[in-house]
Amino acid sequence: MRIAKHDELLTMVTKLGSINCFLVMEDDGITLVDALSHGSGQEILEAVSRTGRPLKRILMTHAHSDHIGSLDEVMAASANVDFLVQERAVPILAGDLTLRDGEPKGRLLKIAYGKVGSQITDIFTDGDRIGSLHAIATPGHTVEHYAFFDPRNATLIAGDSWQTLGGLAVVGDTRWRFPIPSWGTWHRPTNLNSTRKTLEYKPTHLAVGHGRIFCHAQDAMAAAIARAEARIY
Ligand SMILES: [Zn+2]
Repeated sequence: MRIAKHDELLTMVTKLGSINCFLVMEDDGITLVDALSHGSGQEILEAVSRTGRPLKRILMTHAHSDHIGSLDEVMAASANVDFLVQERAVPILAGDLTLRDGEPKGRLLKIAYGKVGSQITDIFTDGDRIGSLHAIATPGHTVEHYAFFDPRNATLIAGDSWQTLGGLAVVGDTRWRFPIPSWGTWHRPTNLNSTRKTLEYKPTHLAVGHGRIFCHAQDAMAAAIARAEARIY
């Protein structure tokens, strides 16, 4: 497990060199974004305790098991922590992967999803603010996918809409050194649209589920979108 302080506002916790979750510093304590794979709750809590601040809330980018695997463990070991969930994830966390009218047909891989038993505290939707973070609906990798933008340090926590492991890329534009996020993707053109939306926030730092934090990210993101546009229809 590696705990890396990116700046005063963001710490990245990395498991097995490839799976990330994030601690965002807020005035009232810590917002945890994602919760690694199963069995990492104590390590996440150790990272929180090193900040000297209380854990206040948990968000997830999406409900794949490598992003929510230790969520229940963290919740069970913490007091007064809110679990805030995007509206589209509510049925998914209950095991219902049925697509809604208007959502493109694609594969939602049931086996890739994790289980969460923790009580949902509140629900958010596109454009909501959660502490400092802007919640951005970014469907594509999964139907319930969200990214979170922190304007204080212009950092986008992008989950699996973007990847940097194997090269900075729009997920769906398969990078053969790390193809797993693309393989697990529901609808690639929808994710490509979502990455265009995230670029509008003008992030300078791109923090992803898999790979290092990419700095001075805007030009590289624009180039990655252009590359994906040539490959994804
Ligand atoms: Zn995923």
